[in-house]
Amino acid sequence: MTEKLVEVKDLEISFGEGSKKFVAVKNANFFINRGETFSLVGESGSGKTTIGRAIIGLNETSAGDIFYEGKRINGKKSREEAAEVIRKIQMIFQDPAASLNERATIDYIISEGLHNFNLFKDEEERQAKVKEIITEVGLLAEHLTRYPHEFSGGQRQRIGIARALVMRPDFVIADEPISALDVSVRAQVLNLLKKFQRELGLTYLFIAHDLSVVRFISDRIAVIYKGVIVEVAETEELFNNPIHPYTQSLLSAVPIPDPILERKKVLKVYDPDQHDYTTDKPEMVEIRPGHFVWGNQAEIAKYRKEF
Ligand code: ATP
Repeated sequence: MTEKLVEVKDLEISFGEGSKKFVAVKNANFFINRGETFSLVGESGSGKTTIGRAIIGLNETSAGDIFYEGKRINGKKSREEAAEVIRKIQMIFQDPAASLNERATIDYIISEGLHNFNLFKDEEERQAKVKEIITEVGLLAEHLTRYPHEFSGGQRQRIGIARALVMRPDFVIADEPISALDVSVRAQVLNLLKKFQRELGLTYLFIAHDLSVVRFISDRIAVIYKGVIVEVAETEELFNNPIHPYTQSLLSAVPIPDPILERKKVLKVYDPDQHDYTTDKPEMVEIRPGHFVWGNQAEIAKYRKEF
């Protein structure tokens, strides 16, 4: 039985006021099942990070709802409720160099959340928790007295993962966790994240700009274009039957390992002006079981005929 851990309904996130108002995310609708890897894919500036930050409460929302275990977590909440959300939901960032405090030891960096939430009864327990997680991410207890600059990019990302997982979260938002890393260590970091998912039953929201990166790790994928989620489906369903023209264009750009097929490949260019939403307004519609597409009535009727 699948359980919706996170549910986002008609979400809007805007920055600024009046004539300076900029709507970064509009009408976002999706859910994330407990235990799955759900990826949010779209080009730079499409609103992926903004959605991730809204889920952990770092960005305010201007309309709609975010539910976590059935409880609304956006908008006003008590200090206790906010603290509970922050502990259960952790984030791993793209740039491990920028996200770690350069002046703090690894021990301090990993312990910070434990201190903030009183998650240990004495010093002995704190040290045990920190030592356990540092070895679980593939580093050594003696690394704890060192500083971030003494580590490589891949090792720093392991420290970022340790800092998030020492909190024993249920849900982890990984915002482009491998894009700043050398190609040679990307697979190691992905494998580490997968290992923790298996062992701890974690649920992941994986943010990426490249469909080919997320294909092999995602159960389901959402595609976002300029703040609007245009399609959500199980991974293979999305790759085999992309319906929205933007998803089709993204997929046409994914490299094919066969050189003959790669040369014959036809790139599809997405033209956002093809949609006329002046009177016939779009909505998210389930076209096939578990396969959702953003379109107006005329488009949905056409998609239903074609797919
Ligand atoms: P990237 O892959 O580059 O991280 P993204 O898809 O994660 O891109 P966001 O960082 O979510 O995109 O940004 C979405 C839009 O919202 C961008 O146009 C960005 O400039 C804008 N934006 C984000 N944060 C703020 C803010 N605090 N104030 C004003 N605009 C913002």
